[in-house]
Amino acid sequence: MRFKTAFIISAFCAALATPATATCPGRVAVQVLGSGGPLADDARASAGYLLWVDGQARLLIDAGGGVFQRFGAAGARMTTLDAILISHLHADHVSDLAALLKSASFDDASAPLRVVGPSAGAVFPGIAEFLAAHFDARNGAYRYLSRLLDVDSDGFRISPVEIDATGEGEAIAFTHDEIGVRAIPVNHGDVPALAFAVSIDGASVVFAGDQSAFSEGFEQALGGARPDLLIAHHAISGAKGQPRGLHRDPASIGDMAAALGAKRLVLSHNMKRALDDWRAGRKAIRAAYDGPVEIAEDGECFSLRG
Ligand SMILES: [Zn+2]
Repeated sequence: MRFKTAFIISAFCAALATPATATCPGRVAVQVLGSGGPLADDARASAGYLLWVDGQARLLIDAGGGVFQRFGAAGARMTTLDAILISHLHADHVSDLAALLKSASFDDASAPLRVVGPSAGAVFPGIAEFLAAHFDARNGAYRYLSRLLDVDSDGFRISPVEIDATGEGEAIAFTHDEIGVRAIPVNHGDVPALAFAVSIDGASVVFAGDQSAFSEGFEQALGGARPDLLIAHHAISGAKGQPRGLHRDPASIGDMAAALGAKRLVLSHNMKRALDDWRAGRKAIRAAYDGPVEIAEDGECFSLRG
């Protein structure tokens, strides 16, 4: 009996000492922080991804609801990030951004953290106006955190990098050390939206983001790029009445994966209406793409370099 009690106590202490999700192993890896969409009808966080390099989180891509918690559970630190990449300003991609930046404000940092995002359009501000609406010293909703945008502050700061999301062209979002990031405008209805192609040490990953099949510029920019990993958003099924003006259906995801020559396809931003029809969805993807296909779960790691 005493042995049992001691065992339970030591197991409990070990559980407290270990993060819920271990840092991704390997030299370069992508971790899915949030594999869900905008509906709170499952246990998935909304969109969010990390690029890990040598055990450090270097890029955060999107920050939807739940990503704040998953980021901490993954053992990531804001101070090791080179940039935050925001695909578009729907709430399921940015609603935890302020909470993560608040968390970072407890740390010191030598250089401002880039927050890369789209330019304005329709009812959406550009990323610079979006961040000012949060943190502007006079009018920001979180004006108590205005230090984040203060260039003279010596604490943790951010620096908006706005990418033209209206054109067909692509832009170099930035390069730093061995990481290169290209931003490619995509069609997501009337929402200014970007995909990101990230390369590092000969490995590459494409975050396709929320995009419809009317994203011809994206396939032209990345056609035959043969990324090691393509993360596509699985928001609709092939059934009638799904919002194809906003998202690719499985057949279109298969076309995209084949056009890029993706070595591996991971489906994220999983919505119930798509998962419920997954058997048909898989078949539709298979019509054009014969590489490995997986449905992502929160916290899952995908190694790009061992
Ligand atoms: Zn979304």
